[in-house]
Amino acid sequence: MIRIYIPQPLSPGAALAPTLDQSRYLTQVMRLRADDELLVFNSHDGEWRCTIAEVLKKGVVLKAEERVRDQISPPDVHLLIAVVKKSALEFAVEKATELGAARIGLVQTARTQPQHLRLDRLDAIAEESAEQTGRMDVPPVDAPVKLDALLDGWDPSRRLMFCDETGGPPAIPTLREAGEGPWAILIGPEGGFTPEEGERLRGLPFTTVVSLGPRILRADTAATTALTLWQAAIGDWEREA
Ligand code: SAM
Repeated sequence: MIRIYIPQPLSPGAALAPTLDQSRYLTQVMRLRADDELLVFNSHDGEWRCTIAEVLKKGVVLKAEERVRDQISPPDVHLLIAVVKKSALEFAVEKATELGAARIGLVQTARTQPQHLRLDRLDAIAEESAEQTGRMDVPPVDAPVKLDALLDGWDPSRRLMFCDETGGPPAIPTLREAGEGPWAILIGPEGGFTPEEGERLRGLPFTTVVSLGPRILRADTAATTALTLWQAAIGDWEREA
């Protein structure tokens, strides 16, 4: 069944107003009509069966009928990725959403190339990916922060999986040994981390250094690989689906 994300409270009988784009998608692409059913989620209230109550020129109105799945949270893992070129960043956001990252943060490092970022576009990619993938929340995409500021304000109860292209222990056994809990995964830019950045990262008490294998991966590949390994080692791929 069609699923869409609408950030409005969901309760029995609630009237919901999808955006104009969503309305067009429902009526013109998917050819839904009054009384047809679809699924709606809002990141808080679970997944709801809804019906199309009205089709108006300015958009459709939906009616929330009943909750069909309770809200579940993704594992507490954030992806922190250096600002890389647009296509790689878009790929990373789409795949990180599919792979269950709870939050996505952008990082400015010494070798980050300046570029015009469209955060609204990245939000839309995360939203579409969450709709398609069946998860019940959309991971927020945070505006870029400088690496030093990020590390200065770090909550030490969250471990940092530092993906170090210059080498480190293999990810799966290292993550299993470090254990479950809140985590973040850090991926550098196309030019990698500077020696100074690497040194600082390796010396922090909350950092777990890992290698992603003997080949240098592009940042977007590294992000999906790191999330996959994290999920396989200590995430929700351990549970029966
Ligand atoms: N320019 C760097 C070089 O040639 O060494 C490569 C940087 S790589 C394109 C971008 C980021 O992906 C790295 O900073 C790192 O975080 C991650 N990465 C890529 N390959 C990796 C590997 N084999 N092990 C750990 N991290 C890796």
